[in-house]
Amino acid sequence: MVDCCSAPGLMPFEKALETMLAAITPITDLESITLTEGLARVLSTDITSPINVPPHNNSAMDGYAFAHASLANQASLKLTGRSMAGQPYQGVCGQGECIRIMTGAKMPDGCDSVEMQENCQVEGDNVRFLAKGELADHVRYAGEDINKGQVVFHKGRRLSAIDIGVLASLGINELKVFRKLNVALIATGDELKALGQPLGSGDIYESNSYALAGMLKNLNVNVIDFGVIVDDESAIRTAFMQADKQADAVISSGGVSVGDADYTKLVLEQIGNIAFWKIAMKPGKPFAFGTLPNSVFFGLPGNPVSAMVTADLLTMPALMKLQHCNAALPITLKAKALTDLRKSAGRMDFQRGVLSTDSEGLLTVNSTGSQGSGILTSIASANCYIVLPAEQGRVQAGEIVNIRLFERYFA
Ligand code: AMP
Ligand code: MG
Repeated sequence: MVDCCSAPGLMPFEKALETMLAAITPITDLESITLTEGLARVLSTDITSPINVPPHNNSAMDGYAFAHASLANQASLKLTGRSMAGQPYQGVCGQGECIRIMTGAKMPDGCDSVEMQENCQVEGDNVRFLAKGELADHVRYAGEDINKGQVVFHKGRRLSAIDIGVLASLGINELKVFRKLNVALIATGDELKALGQPLGSGDIYESNSYALAGMLKNLNVNVIDFGVIVDDESAIRTAFMQADKQADAVISSGGVSVGDADYTKLVLEQIGNIAFWKIAMKPGKPFAFGTLPNSVFFGLPGNPVSAMVTADLLTMPALMKLQHCNAALPITLKAKALTDLRKSAGRMDFQRGVLSTDSEGLLTVNSTGSQGSGILTSIASANCYIVLPAEQGRVQAGEIVNIRLFERYFA
């Protein structure tokens, strides 16, 4: 059995990730934005709630509010007023009395319980209670969601749509966030044609930068697209130098391997520093990480699947760190493989799978089929990685494997 460290010159995946994250210094520039611009931005301060949410005790039902003790010896209460959402009852509800109340309306003074209207019968000025509820039924308490002064979100949180809603519920309209990252994309390859151009013999459409730009947009960073650069050492050097002037991070794809037209590593060594460029992972063995004078550099492999998987598992965590974002650790699940999985020992595999549940509710996983590094639909049809350790060999159907769900920004 071969383990990852005996695969010559290849760095284990975890070591590569750790080395890369350790080499990244987060940006420090801040800006103020309004809440509507906050989606996917990263907070630069903790957010403390200025109010209780909800701000007042209120009813969870349409019905009648009263003091629970009033129903100790009687089933009917006198109806003396009403409390609507936004138009609270101004008086005090006395013993033996009740108040008509709507969902979200403030609990009147003197009331501690609500009965839903389906269990009540109005008889003139009286309300008959057909059910005997418990004390405090259907009351939502001030601060039961968020207490005034409570830290709601910590510095480093990337805001989701729901987070934006929570902040709105606190009345917060101004946010302090880290500035957006500027990320340059460079595709390299003589065979790559931009969309709209006819394909000549031997050409293909350039697709990596489109998918990468999509992932980056989900992180709400500024994308600077350098388009396609031909396989020429000086053209690549010029592009890398221009990109370095404008961007916090430069991401290239292609030309990072050992072919005759592969200049990425050479140019990176000339104008910057290379930290490592070969990882014991599949897909994605050739992956160069390093620094340019002003930016961090990620040289992704050209093969679309390798480019996407390394971008997802290595570049995105690095960009998160660069942006001060506390990314949650990936959750690993166990699932039963429904088919054999081809695997040779030596590199850690990130095969693409479809996770589902069987008739007993247990997790199962199917391969998306051919795992070739040019087959981009193997990711499009998947919802998870099947993560197989470097030393693992072939997996038999029925064996339990580790699953890692795709991130929200990815697929
Ligand atoms: P390379 O890493 O340059 O040797 O490229 C490996 C494979 O990926 C080749 O088949 C390339 O044609 C393909 N490839 C490289 N860059 C891209 C790209 N931006 N979009 C789609 N395919 C690419
Ligand atoms: Mg190439």
